[in-house]
Amino acid sequence: MAEEKETKKLAEEVKEEEEGEQVVTPWEVASGGGKEGGKIDYDKLISKFGCQKLDSSLISRVERLTSRPPHVFLRRGVFFAHRDFNEILDAYEKGDNFYLYTGRGPSSEALHLGHLIPFMFTKYLQDAFKVPLVIQLTDDEKCMWKNLSVEESKRLARENAKDIIACGFDITRTFIFSDFGYLGGAFYENVVRVARCVSFNQVRGIFGFSPEDHIGKIGFPPVQAVPSFPTSFPHLFSGRDNLRCLIPCAIDQDPYFRMTRDVAPRIGYQKPALIESLFFPALQDPYFRMTRDVAPRIGYQKPALIESLFFPALQGESGKMSASDPNSAIYVTDSRNDIKKKINKHAFSGGQDSVENQRKYGANLEVDIPVKYLSFFLEDDAELEYIKKEYGAGRMLTGEVKSRLIEVLTDMVMRHREARAAVTEEMVDAFMAVRPLPRMFD
Ligand code: ATP
Ligand code: MG
Repeated sequence: MAEEKETKKLAEEVKEEEEGEQVVTPWEVASGGGKEGGKIDYDKLISKFGCQKLDSSLISRVERLTSRPPHVFLRRGVFFAHRDFNEILDAYEKGDNFYLYTGRGPSSEALHLGHLIPFMFTKYLQDAFKVPLVIQLTDDEKCMWKNLSVEESKRLARENAKDIIACGFDITRTFIFSDFGYLGGAFYENVVRVARCVSFNQVRGIFGFSPEDHIGKIGFPPVQAVPSFPTSFPHLFSGRDNLRCLIPCAIDQDPYFRMTRDVAPRIGYQKPALIESLFFPALQDPYFRMTRDVAPRIGYQKPALIESLFFPALQGESGKMSASDPNSAIYVTDSRNDIKKKINKHAFSGGQDSVENQRKYGANLEVDIPVKYLSFFLEDDAELEYIKKEYGAGRMLTGEVKSRLIEVLTDMVMRHREARAAVTEEMVDAFMAVRPLPRMFD
C-alpha cells in the first residue's frame, strides 16, 4: 500500500531533516535555508508526503458542482495539495454526501491570521457543498505538548471556540467538541481500534517521537485520527458508516492523516447480521451464527484531504506565522494601531532601499510579504494584478502597498472582532452540545 511505504520512508527522512534540510512537522516548520532565499519548498513537500497537486481541472469541477465562483484560496493556490479530493467530487456528483472535519489545538488565547485560514476555507466548503462539519479542539494535546494544566487547556478550548464560531459556521450543520469533553463511547472505541494497529516504531517514523517523550504524546495520534470516521459520531451519522470525510487543514497536519489512511482499511465493522439473515431466512441458528462469523469485515473509508500552504511570518516565507514569535504574527485581537505598526515595521519588503532605486528597478515580488499577504486576502483579482504590475515596475512604492494591506487586514480583523464579541456562552454550549443535526444535508 502506498501509504505503508510512505510510513517506512519517513523514518529515514526524519534523519535527513536533522542535517539542515527543511523541516515540516505538526510542531515545527522551517525551510532549512535552501533555495530561493530560504522559502519553504512546497513541491518537495508534495513529493515527500506523497500527496497530489491540486490542479486547475479540480478547481473548475468545484466551480461547476457548487455553482459559485471558487474561493480565493483555491484561485490563488493557497489550498494547493490533496489526497483523494477527486473521489469526494466523483461521489458528490453522483449524489453521495460527505462530511467535513477540521480542528484546532487551543494553545493560545488569541488566534493569528494563519490559524484563521483553514476555518475561513472550511466555512466556504460547508456553504458551497451544504454538508455537515465536525470541529475537534485538541485540548488534551496542548495540555501534553505545551505543559498547560488541564483546566487552562479546557478554558483555552472554549475561548478558541468563540473565535471559530465567529467565522460564521452554520449551527444546524456544525458540531464542535473538545477532547476532554467528548472522548468516550464510540469515539474511544475507534481510538483503540487505531491504536492497536500502530507500533511505536511507526509513530516514531511518522512524527519523530523519541523514547524520552512521555507516553501521552506517543498515544495521542489516534485521537486526532478518528474524527475521520463517521462511526465516531453516532449522534450525527448513525447508519451512515460509509460516509466519506474531507479534511481541510494546513499541510503540516498531513502526517496524522497519512497514518489514518494507512490504518483505515484494516479496521472497520462487521457486516451487519441483518444482511446475512436476509440471504438465509430459513436457516437454523447455528448456521446463521457461522455465516455471521465468516462475514467479511468492511474496512473504514480513508479520509480525503485538501491542504494549504502556511501563512508566512511577517519576516518572510522561510517560516510560518507562529504564536511562539509575537513579532511574526498578526492576531485577531490586535488593534488598528498594532496592525499598522507591525506591517510598517516588520513586514519584509521586496522594494528597493530608496525611492530612486525603486522607481528604477522595481520591487522583487518573489520575496515581498505585503504582496504575499494581499494574495491571500485581497479578493479583487484585477486590483491584485494591478498592484503587482505597478509595484514590480517601480511605479508604486512599498509604503503604498503596505497602506493598502493595512486597510485590507484592519477591515478583516475588525469584522472578526465584532463577530466574536457577539458570540455568547450559550452559543458555545449550543455548538458543543452532543445532538443530532436533523437537516445537516439539506
Ligand atoms: P506555536 O508557534 O506556539 O506552536 P502556532 O502558531 O504554530 O503556535 P499551533 O497552535 O501550533 O500554532 O498551530 C496549530 C496548527 O495550526 C498548526 O499545526 C497548523 O496546522 C495551523 N497553523 C498554525 N500556524 C499556521 C500558519 N501560519 N499558516 C497556516 N496554518 C497554520
Ligand atoms: Mg505550533
